[in-house]
Amino acid sequence: MCGIAGYMGSGDVITTILSLLIELQHRGQESAGIVVATRGGEIHRVVGKGLVVEALNNEKISQLRSVDEIVGGIGHVRYSTSGGYLDSQAQPILVGDENFKMAVAFNGTIANFFSMAKLLGIVDADGDAKVLATFLFRLAKEFGNDVVEALKVLPHYVVGGYSIVVLTSEPRIVVARDPHGFRPLAVLHTGSDFYVASETAALDIVTGHLWRWREVLPGEIISYDGSSLEFTKSPISTPISPCVFEYVYFSRPDSVFNGVSIYVARVRMGEELAKAAPAMGDVVVPVPDSGRAAAIGFSRASGLPLEEGIVVNKYVGRGFIAPPRSREIISRLKYGFIKSVVSGRRVVLIDDSIVRGTTMRSIVRRLREAGASEVHVRVASPPFRYPCFMGIDVASREQLLAWRAMGLDEIARALNADSVGYNTIEGLRKAVGIPLICHACFTGLYPFKGLDADALEKMFIR
Ligand code: SF4
Repeated sequence: MCGIAGYMGSGDVITTILSLLIELQHRGQESAGIVVATRGGEIHRVVGKGLVVEALNNEKISQLRSVDEIVGGIGHVRYSTSGGYLDSQAQPILVGDENFKMAVAFNGTIANFFSMAKLLGIVDADGDAKVLATFLFRLAKEFGNDVVEALKVLPHYVVGGYSIVVLTSEPRIVVARDPHGFRPLAVLHTGSDFYVASETAALDIVTGHLWRWREVLPGEIISYDGSSLEFTKSPISTPISPCVFEYVYFSRPDSVFNGVSIYVARVRMGEELAKAAPAMGDVVVPVPDSGRAAAIGFSRASGLPLEEGIVVNKYVGRGFIAPPRSREIISRLKYGFIKSVVSGRRVVLIDDSIVRGTTMRSIVRRLREAGASEVHVRVASPPFRYPCFMGIDVASREQLLAWRAMGLDEIARALNADSVGYNTIEGLRKAVGIPLICHACFTGLYPFKGLDADALEKMFIR
């Protein structure tokens, strides 16, 4: 998972992209970068480590502001799914030769990047971003520097998921979603301004043009050169399989994905959860922020009162997308507990998902320390049992609590909870309300013909 953004138009390119990246900060906190293009075809790049405000500090932004005649740019916030936490993987990635240059930023994972690197003759590939950018550049060269034509055939070579934004030295911005449509992407075109962002909420907030965006369709390619928009579709088609985890956790609740409000889907997940795994309790308490909407749904459907018993420190960051060594510290520092809400009560604790179990174990322990008489954990999605190769950093089953544990009792023991209950796949489907979704991390059914978790793991981990 990462966030991508872009803008071409008559406004302040740098401020617009910075603002979009800040609104997408929840999608990646390890690095951020911006590349701008000038009217004359020069390309300038700044990247850095950490949050947008740290990575793109005043010094770096001043460097960009000294560039004349900027007409457009793209940006990226990174959450690494491949290539570890290497500086060399910070995006956008620059590729090119003396005639044609381009910058590439993407959200997703390329599971077969080692084999793509081999085709390029790269022997020391250290992550998917550089390989994808180099591959796309080579394809564009074959089509006479045409990125649209390159993006049309790219799905033929890729196993994985990507939403992508490319800035060329022409200059032009080209955006695309892979034919499966795993990751979100939306554009907004008003007059001479063209905006792109991973999530619709970023476009609403930054442009002020509420609900004027349009989601990029799976397999669609949109190109803007400052005056005309061009819409194309990759001829490589496949059944769509957007990531259900975008609804469960990744996306902001004020975003829309495939026409479905993330918030509404989460509330419905809570309602379905109350039916699938009811709990005897006195109070429903959400794990903030990601469990909040599902807790509203659970409370409505169960009739149990909803109260805020846990306070989140938003400055600590998202534990799930943090590097492994930081996760335990984050889960300790991130939450405060309201004794008067939980003390002496049977708490029904609602979260969106349990992946590794690190955070949940720590929350249950501290609820007990705050005086909760019982803690019943209820999870708005099914048990997370399989790794993802399309955009989240869970590449090995051994990391997953529900894979290691034999059943609900064992999971409850591992979390020190009185009981644990999960949503069902049917409940999740009903909550999201679109017939075709990817749910491979819950079921192991990957939307790639003939590829199971073992085959994908072999392809991805060398
Ligand atoms: S495996 Fe899970 S996280 Fe990965 S794309 Fe599919 S639904 Fe999303």
